Amino acid sequence: MSETVTSVLPKAVLVDSHCHLDFPDFAEEVDQVVARAHDAGVGLMVTISTKISEFDRILALAERFPNVYCSVGIHPHEAATEPETDAARLIELAKHPKVVGIGETGFDYYYEHSPREPQQRCFRAHIAAARETGLPLIVHTRDADEDTANILSEEMGKGAFTGLLHCFTSGEKLARHALGLGFYISLSGILTFKSAAELQVTASHVPLDRLLVETDAPYLAPVPKRGKRNEPSFVVHTAAKLAEIKGVSAEALALQTSENFLRLFSRVPREAVFGS
Ligand SMILES: [Zn+2]
Ligand SMILES: [Zn+2]
Repeated sequence: MSETVTSVLPKAVLVDSHCHLDFPDFAEEVDQVVARAHDAGVGLMVTISTKISEFDRILALAERFPNVYCSVGIHPHEAATEPETDAARLIELAKHPKVVGIGETGFDYYYEHSPREPQQRCFRAHIAAARETGLPLIVHTRDADEDTANILSEEMGKGAFTGLLHCFTSGEKLARHALGLGFYISLSGILTFKSAAELQVTASHVPLDRLLVETDAPYLAPVPKRGKRNEPSFVVHTAAKLAEIKGVSAEALALQTSENFLRLFSRVPREAVFGS
């Protein structure tokens, strides 16, 4: 009984569940960005696919760094311009062991860079792939609370799948709906903004075992880095804010959100986050 409690608990490390390391913003220094994340206590990052036509570049990043995993999917912005992609193609690409999620997919009615019809067709293909592979669906939703709730419920009725609402900024009603379907809620640097009072209240109501943190880097740097290019190491600031909101220590928040991540992203080996 001489073993101390700290030696049997896993080291508290954070996960950046959503970033875009393939974006040109990082081209010059992706090695340094990944190293800085590690030094900041970010044990693992998931670089998220937005274009199927550039999936090879995303996979190459995941293959290059042991602590970088990736998803496969088409962002709703690109639904009309990317090659038409069915569930079978997504399932095929998702066979690679470093592919751990399906997306990002969903509805973006704020920018509406693609018309709604192709957004919906693309979303349904991703849902079918998530259902078939058992990998989590990474949902982007902006100004589309009702349609997002409806499609998730309707598709859940055809057969279960898991997932999360990423960079959550929607209303509490959608949060409750998603939680009711077994989904998780991922919070970005927006949580730290002064203007995010409503989001902070919503976050306070989400059970601690359903929360994830992310950067969505290179966008949306949290306070005190707001306005700078975002990067995975900055997820510590979002986690600190969330810990404050939930009334827990930074260590407890890191442990809990990383446990949540591993439960949802079940293809990621535990050692990849906590070491062995
Ligand atoms: Zn997104
Ligand atoms: Zn994204």
